Amino acid sequence: MTVTKKMEDVLRQVDERQDELIELVQTLIKFETPAPPARNTNEAQAFVADFLKDQGFSIDRWDVYPGDPNVVGFLNGTDSKNYKSLIINGHMDVAEVSEDENWEKDPFTPIVRDGAIIGRGAADMKGGMAGALFAIQLLRENGVELPGDLTLQSVIGEEVGEAGTLQACKRNGGAEADFAVVVDTSDLHIQGQGGVITGWITIKSDKTFHDAMRRKMIHAGGKVVGASAIEKMMKVMEGLQELERHWAVTKSYPGYPAGTNTINPAVIEGGRHAAFIADECRLWITVHFYPNETHEQVAKEVEAHILNVAKGDIWLKDNPPTFTWGGTSMIEERGEIFPSLEVDPDHEGVQLLAGVHERVSGERATIDVSPTVTDGGWLGDAGIPTVIYGPGDLNNAHAVNEQVSIEQLVYYTKTLLQFICEWSNTRKKT
Ligand SMILES: [Zn+2]
Repeated sequence: MTVTKKMEDVLRQVDERQDELIELVQTLIKFETPAPPARNTNEAQAFVADFLKDQGFSIDRWDVYPGDPNVVGFLNGTDSKNYKSLIINGHMDVAEVSEDENWEKDPFTPIVRDGAIIGRGAADMKGGMAGALFAIQLLRENGVELPGDLTLQSVIGEEVGEAGTLQACKRNGGAEADFAVVVDTSDLHIQGQGGVITGWITIKSDKTFHDAMRRKMIHAGGKVVGASAIEKMMKVMEGLQELERHWAVTKSYPGYPAGTNTINPAVIEGGRHAAFIADECRLWITVHFYPNETHEQVAKEVEAHILNVAKGDIWLKDNPPTFTWGGTSMIEERGEIFPSLEVDPDHEGVQLLAGVHERVSGERATIDVSPTVTDGGWLGDAGIPTVIYGPGDLNNAHAVNEQVSIEQLVYYTKTLLQFICEWSNTRKKT
């Protein structure tokens, strides 16, 4: 039997065994893994670990946080030295469900109706995970040997900016692969992404004044040099707006509406009590940047501009604001980073994936940018050429009655299955 003939046969099984695929999605949805509150992925991750073990994978499993382990499965290729390796990455956590959401049924009791699977995580991204797992299962059951190494990273914490993928990329001397696919929601587009970094800007006075001192601080003859940190933060905010406007005018990236690179003053905290002049004020900002920029670079630009603004202020020049950037969890330390990801459309892996997509779906592949952020940036940061490619659309991600189309999921699974096989059979350049 020729390789092509065999692949046709395996692909046909995705159609024939569709019910198993649907059941796998439902099984994953039934594990209640919303983040926040998080710390609830033990059982789901144990399921993935067992699943991969059954397919011959070796398993690395560790707690990123107690109750939230990462699972990384590794399948040694039959000729790793000569053939291309692949990482498939997906997150097991799903968006939170708030009390007032009006689901027609419990979000963790999936229903199948009108050609769709409905449940929290169907689109983001238990559908994509199920597609990847089922593709692997079919390849193994049909005895398709993979010459290149295959890694599946099932991570936690993506919805709350936690370092699941970052840890998976750093562990054991660092992840390496010739290509990576993040199977997150992309409506079957092949995507890169802009990035996000959060930061805290703090204004702090080294003196604390009683409220009664305000007259002496702000009026003629008062002779007290001091300031309200809250009032001084207004200058910082004006500076941020100015920079945001400047970025919108001067920067752009294909696929994004101008001005996507926003600086959002998201949270402000300051003052201690109505009887005091505010001696501290903290502003939490969210900065969006383009795929061809880094979080380090934009953080530097924000700092430089705000410190210039401070230099022009009579009090801030001696009490300049300080900056704390990023973080590894929105829950634990109120900070996150999603590095940007640039996709080179001419990369061998991108070309192959686009080609397989076209063969399977009969539609031209779309290579563009995601309007949101995924863990893809961490893989790109690790030096691995990476794309986002998954079923489901963003209108559904995080939405009430979240769903994924079964037809799309089947196309997806077939594409991924064939891509895994063909990429794995691509020789490394010597
Ligand atoms: Zn996602």
